[in-house]
Amino acid sequence: MTNRNPDSLRKQRFKARLSVQHENSLHSRLRQHLPAAFNERWTRRHWIHAGLFASIGLMVATIIPGFSQPVAAAGYTQASLPLELPALEQIQSDQPASTWHTLQVSAGQTLGAIFNELQLPASVMHRVLENEHARTAFARLRPGTEISFNIPAQGQLHGLRFNRDPGHRVELDLQGEEITATVTAREITTRTAVASGEIRHSLYASASRAGLPANAIAVLTDEIFKYDIDFSKDVQPGDRFNVVYDETWREGERIDASKVLAATFTTGGKTYTGFRFERNGKTEYFDAEGRPLKKSFIRSPIQFARLSSNFGARRHPVLGRMRMHKGVDYAARTGTPIMAAGDARVQFAGVQRGYGNTVILDHGRGHTTLYAHMSRFGKFRAGQRVSQGEIIGYVGSTGLSTGPHLHYEFRVNGQHRNPLSVTMPPPEPLRGAELAAFQAQVAPAMARIRGMEQVMYAQAQPQATARSTRTPG
Ligand SMILES: [Zn+2]
Repeated sequence: MTNRNPDSLRKQRFKARLSVQHENSLHSRLRQHLPAAFNERWTRRHWIHAGLFASIGLMVATIIPGFSQPVAAAGYTQASLPLELPALEQIQSDQPASTWHTLQVSAGQTLGAIFNELQLPASVMHRVLENEHARTAFARLRPGTEISFNIPAQGQLHGLRFNRDPGHRVELDLQGEEITATVTAREITTRTAVASGEIRHSLYASASRAGLPANAIAVLTDEIFKYDIDFSKDVQPGDRFNVVYDETWREGERIDASKVLAATFTTGGKTYTGFRFERNGKTEYFDAEGRPLKKSFIRSPIQFARLSSNFGARRHPVLGRMRMHKGVDYAARTGTPIMAAGDARVQFAGVQRGYGNTVILDHGRGHTTLYAHMSRFGKFRAGQRVSQGEIIGYVGSTGLSTGPHLHYEFRVNGQHRNPLSVTMPPPEPLRGAELAAFQAQVAPAMARIRGMEQVMYAQAQPQATARSTRTPG
């Protein structure tokens, strides 16, 4: 629709410019910048809407399973897009072109370089740096930091906006004799959310579609369920998960979602459940009855290794005579990390004749483990405590050894046992007041999971109850 009327031509150009602004704001939003945060005109209303739409998007993505998942994901994105667009009327009644420019600090860029790039004199920069907020914020200029400049005419700086620290935003007004600073707290809120889903192709894809970030997914696979589920082998399409987690939001932006309060995972017809609880200041995950999900010992202290010699009588490979092999050997490349099989105190770390570089861990209750032939030790000293899974050393071939391997021993009250078949002692369950506190804490999370399961699966499977353990008969 071309029109030669100069008035409408002007309008058209204006609209074109607007749409460029829209484009820019869209893209910057997609890159997770915070342009709106620096643009007073849209700030409050804007973030509220963003938060609202994001939540709705999330709810759509999580609550309605029948909603085919890619559609839900697309809906999520689309819902957040129009938010960056200010109402047309508002822009028109307002001054159309903003004199604010937001830029992002690139790696190695100094404040001087930024001012230079904006053609602002160094004297202006020095004036800015007289302000303590500016000094605090710009003392350590990190790549990705955003700074907004109000430059109505070349060489003139009327205002500056920046985050002094994660919790505070500062606006400096440089128009008067004195610089005036307005400091506003950046609101940080935490809310509990639930993400549920059914696995289609991969856990990662399905979980991230349900709104879980990668680090929350890692809590499921590497922490809560790692003892019960082999996520590289066991997980299949149709498996289900529910995750109750805390989300931290700052001005409409989700800045953290890694604190998983509770989770269920249904695979192979069995539902595994884990609840977060702090015992003695340490975060652990427990089942609904208060039993730790964590085992006292991991079966193998080394990953990606081949069992090269079993426990029992054998001809010694170096000495050549029949001898009792008091442990198991894992062949692995030199430098492969060796993990503490359980929480322990380091009883010994040093050289033992045939064993070479050796670590002995005392796990309490009469249990000790020994790791031999290491090429080098982990970062600890004898007497210190180590956690299960912590790296205590690296595979080597020190001592009497024919090639790089880990020799691993498991002793109960001084007696050698086969680490592959010994009955591991169960970890201490919660008891008494701790158990009561745990149960009180678990109840609301469990209710949320049950509610979610009902919404998601009641229609699809009217006969089946979600939790196999609760199915009567
Ligand atoms: Zn051995």
